[in-house]
Amino acid sequence: MTEKPAIALIAHDLMKDAMADFARTHEAVLSGFSIVATGTTGQRVIEACPGLDVTALKSGPLGGDQQIGALIATGGVTLLVFFVDPLTAMPHDVDVKALTRLAIVYDIPLALNRATAEPLLRALG
Ligand code: PGA
Repeated sequence: MTEKPAIALIAHDLMKDAMADFARTHEAVLSGFSIVATGTTGQRVIEACPGLDVTALKSGPLGGDQQIGALIATGGVTLLVFFVDPLTAMPHDVDVKALTRLAIVYDIPLALNRATAEPLLRALG
């Protein structure tokens, strides 16, 4: 990760196309930040926007959500964009809850859908 403030990106499987599209649409603004992402989401964002500064952590179900939670707790995240799939049960639902809870604890801007992510990103950009 570089010195730039980090935006964390996570998308559940059925939301990954939406996240890739979000990254493409906002590539210019996102290029002003370092990006941290869970593993598969990060790979999709890299494919969509190879020029972005993306650090792909572990896959969410294997600890990536918790890695991003630790970054939030240590002050390394300025915005969390988490495209949650509202219709599918997740084996790592406890991690999802823990991560959103930490975003609230540390008062980090938190977008759970695109309609929220876009104005928050504009506000940062
Ligand atoms: P993934 O993890 O980007 O590695 O798929 C996302 C998640 O938390 O499900």
